[in-house]
Amino acid sequence: MFVTNHVLAGALIGRALGGHPVASFGVGVISHFLMDSCPHWGMSDEEPFSWEKFYPIARCDGCLGLAAMAVGAGLAPGSSRKAVISGMLGAASVDADKPMLYFLGWNPFPLAVRRLHLRVQRQAPNRLGFEIAVGASLALAVLAASLRRKRD
Ligand SMILES: [Zn+2]
Repeated sequence: MFVTNHVLAGALIGRALGGHPVASFGVGVISHFLMDSCPHWGMSDEEPFSWEKFYPIARCDGCLGLAAMAVGAGLAPGSSRKAVISGMLGAASVDADKPMLYFLGWNPFPLAVRRLHLRVQRQAPNRLGFEIAVGASLALAVLAASLRRKRD
């Protein structure tokens, strides 16, 4: 799943867990595996992995994910900002293997984590629209939570 979607889910987790940044990080990590086990966009398993096909979309997604982190942190109330940032980092951290592999040629995760991450994937190349709709829905949820909080 797009890292942007993981980040947005992490922002919502952080808001829900308020003053518990460590728990927020952990739940963010768990959310990553749960979200990756839902149908989402990804490269076809039937052809060999190609950085040339993956990188242009991953670059856009990575930039959007960083922007989502900045906006998510900025919209979070001060009392839960640490938890929101922790939730976003936990949710995104599992995908840190992709930029590490691309830029450094090294995967930081133990083999068991890599296998679990691969095993839970339910990706297909024809689900880009669905993945964008999930991201838009999560972004709206983050904005709605921010607006609701300001009215309180
Ligand atoms: Zn993932």
